Amino acid sequence: MDTAVCFECVEDFYLKKIIEDRGEPRRCSVCGEERNNAFTVNELGKLMEPIMRKHFCHGPEVKKFGDNDEEWWEPEGEPISWAVQEVLGQYFEFEDEIVDAVIEAENCWPQDGDECFWDNTSSYIESRIKLGHYFAEWQYTLDELKHKRRFFSPSARTLFEKLFDDVDDLKSWEDDQPVVINFCLLIRSYLGHASAFLNQC
Ligand SMILES: [Zn+2]
Repeated sequence: MDTAVCFECVEDFYLKKIIEDRGEPRRCSVCGEERNNAFTVNELGKLMEPIMRKHFCHGPEVKKFGDNDEEWWEPEGEPISWAVQEVLGQYFEFEDEIVDAVIEAENCWPQDGDECFWDNTSSYIESRIKLGHYFAEWQYTLDELKHKRRFFSPSARTLFEKLFDDVDDLKSWEDDQPVVINFCLLIRSYLGHASAFLNQC
């Protein structure tokens, strides 16, 4: 019988809902219940693969240093099993089967020369910064600014401090230039010579 997991045994709120809505009654390999709607591991893999593809990428090669001045390059990141656990938010004993199902869901044939994205030897990192909690904070802050404490909003101060705290030191990932450009220097370079206004800078 196929390994399966029922909606009751899934912790993630959205995944639980998907399995409850789209699954079929099957024997759950976690709790043993047969009447709950459940997803087989293959169905789970098919659901997870495109989601994982959006949120993870191959880790870049980074230089490592060992004792005796040894140097070598190795890919940064974690194995696919880590990415699977990140997406599920919990560990299942049959994690290996879920990993295999995700790899299979890619529908990639290395024997035919395909370069597969998922395999058991590559390393992965998250490709997107999680912004969810910033949106929640932003909504709360907007509400406070609009309806409560317009000028001395403590949540606005906290949020902006967090967002811009080290902005002066941040550099662009692409060209190593500072992300903050001094406004006066910039307009000086555009306009060439000083006006009364520029002299204020
Ligand atoms: Zn169950």
